[in-house]
Amino acid sequence: LTTEQSPKQHRYLDVVGVTKSFKGTVVMDQMNFRVARGELVSLLGPSGCGKTTLLRIIAGLLEADTGDIVLGGRNVSSLPAHKRNISVVFQNYALFPHLTVAENVAFGLRARGMSKTDVQAPVADALALVRMESYADRPVSALSGGQQQRVAVARALVVSPDLLLLDEPFSALDRKLRETMQIELKALLRSRGITAIFVTHDQEEAMGVSDRIAVMSNGKIEQFAEPSVLYAQPASPFVMDFVGLSTRMSGRVVTQTDGIATVRTAIGEVRAIADYTAGTQVQVGVRPELITPDPTAEMNQIKVQLDDVMTLGSKTVLHGVTSGEDKFLCELSGIRTGYTRGETVTWGWAVADTLIHEVAA
Ligand code: ATP
Repeated sequence: LTTEQSPKQHRYLDVVGVTKSFKGTVVMDQMNFRVARGELVSLLGPSGCGKTTLLRIIAGLLEADTGDIVLGGRNVSSLPAHKRNISVVFQNYALFPHLTVAENVAFGLRARGMSKTDVQAPVADALALVRMESYADRPVSALSGGQQQRVAVARALVVSPDLLLLDEPFSALDRKLRETMQIELKALLRSRGITAIFVTHDQEEAMGVSDRIAVMSNGKIEQFAEPSVLYAQPASPFVMDFVGLSTRMSGRVVTQTDGIATVRTAIGEVRAIADYTAGTQVQVGVRPELITPDPTAEMNQIKVQLDDVMTLGSKTVLHGVTSGEDKFLCELSGIRTGYTRGETVTWGWAVADTLIHEVAA
């Protein structure tokens, strides 16, 4: 987001104080969530955290107990789903199997009362967008997963929605196709300036397709930030664990001088940039790719026994176990040799790379 954008654009979609209970159990309490025009955003979180519930409330497929949904300055809370001008791409695409590709894409326009002749041009345009023109007359049941997804996207975009919602849109595709479709769809949405919200539990997918990610847990947003910020400055132990791998340990701050906290852990002292005072209970962590097997004197250092060496081609992952049985991963780029299982080695990482959070004592 650039600073030139007006405040109005910053609140293109405004979810205000949404609360939802199912049979007396509160699954969402006073949710606030704001998306700018043209932004691609993901709701990321473990199963049951409330991603789909929030998506369905925004779409109008589920009624909130309290709160408002404002889209482009218009309060749509009391409008039924089909009057909100919001399109949804469902996980299973929800195409009509007995209709052709073109009939599927035409469906929304026909439902709005457009004639068979009038829908032809917009349907052709939408199919061209997803490069499916030559499949217009095929039954959707004869398409591959990736092609079905393209048709679902064309069907969602043909009505020129004010907002596009996608519920786990890539989960039915194999890994290679998933990556291709993510790149394609992102480029398409960007080129059309479409505002979209993806629901996913896959952090790599969220990082790949989004400008910002809302990490959810138990019906709450834990952190809403750009991928790089989520990764480098996770706001809580939950975000640190959910976004990326890290090794973490519990400890207590023993001293704090000039903004550097020294934390005593089961395997020795670890320093971090933090202003927590002595006595604070914390968790410290570090990302595997920030650990080096050749530490300098100024770094945090740990002794580990090499437990495994995994050669993955693009990277080599060393598994180390400390005397306190904490497991550390050290991730090096490319293929590395010269490491022997069972040897004891010293690893390190920069003080500034230590992730640290206060935890309840
Ligand atoms: P998943 O990734 O598994 O789809 P999610 O993050 O989308 O999970 P939701 O489906 O939004 O989570 O569910 C949030 C909570 O609300 C869960 O505890 C779920 O059991 C509950 N819930 C959702 N729908 C209903 C319903 N119709 N009746 C009762 N409880 C529900």
